[in-house]
Amino acid sequence: MTSDVIKKLNKIYAEALEEVGKGKLYAQRRVELEIKYLGRKGKLNDVFKEMAVLSDSARKEVGVLANKLKSDLKLQLGQAQLQNKKSATTITFDETIPGARPKIGSLHPITQFLERIMAVFSTLGFEIVEDREVETTVYNFDKLNIAFDHPARDMWDTFYIKIKNKKEKIKNKEESSLVLRTHTSPVQIRAMEKRRPPVRLVVPGRVYRHEATDASHETNFYQLEGLVIDRNISVANMIYVLHTVLKQLFGDKVKIRIRPSFFPFVEPGHEVDMSCIICEQKGCSVCSGTGWLEMLGAGMVHPVVLKNMKVDPDKYSGFAFGMGVDRLIMLYHGINDIRLSYSGDLRFLKQF
Ligand SMILES: [Zn+2]
Repeated sequence: MTSDVIKKLNKIYAEALEEVGKGKLYAQRRVELEIKYLGRKGKLNDVFKEMAVLSDSARKEVGVLANKLKSDLKLQLGQAQLQNKKSATTITFDETIPGARPKIGSLHPITQFLERIMAVFSTLGFEIVEDREVETTVYNFDKLNIAFDHPARDMWDTFYIKIKNKKEKIKNKEESSLVLRTHTSPVQIRAMEKRRPPVRLVVPGRVYRHEATDASHETNFYQLEGLVIDRNISVANMIYVLHTVLKQLFGDKVKIRIRPSFFPFVEPGHEVDMSCIICEQKGCSVCSGTGWLEMLGAGMVHPVVLKNMKVDPDKYSGFAFGMGVDRLIMLYHGINDIRLSYSGDLRFLKQF
């Protein structure tokens, strides 16, 4: 009787080992086998029921064997699963491979370039002033001598902002029309409300136009505006400052020329060109074969604008200038599409 039970136990054990050896033992399969052989209703426990009929000594003998086989089987199952894990995840570690660097952001090319320009103006004693981007038409146009019927005020050139509270609109006439500023010039007026001549200031900032975008037009872009007011300021001072700045940015070889132009807030107005840095005035596609590049608008501050700044035009004079920062950057870095700066494309931004 005892030998029958022992035979049965050994048979079950052999059977179990065979199953363990079959194929890969994943966790789920291991649990299945544990239930099948070692569980409360498992095959090995079944044999225990037959032990009731055995003598005490035989029961003891069979019990010892059964427990040994149980713990052996557990061990086998554990090892088989471990073996499987090892072959599935062979970890290789090469300590000579450099670590993964964290990605570090950098300043936008426009910010970088503005800092460069402002550093140049700082060495010339200019103060840097910033102000709002949503401006009233009074500051954006009226106080800058831009007449009510000037095309710059057209809906198609300017972004107007709707004011919801009409009572407020009537009460405060000055705020009656709000625009996204079309230039940084209103900051000149606002700055002069808190300053008296002599002043030397530059205003960097974002401006807005109602534009159809293409490679050289964007609905928002950056300008840098400058204003100098003092006694005896003349066009000669203006030429000296602008030439110095352009030389600092683009190199000592740079030449400039001044052409007459018209802007409502200056008199006389000038267009300032710089000798082409790409072809050194031999003529290329960037300068359209002329050897000159249009760089900025400038001029002597209009007496009406001086009066709007509460500055006496008989005692003081001044010059103002404005440059398109994006155009300067494009020229400086050889970028052919203004939209790249605002695209947020890391392939572009990582180059700076
Ligand atoms: Zn050229």
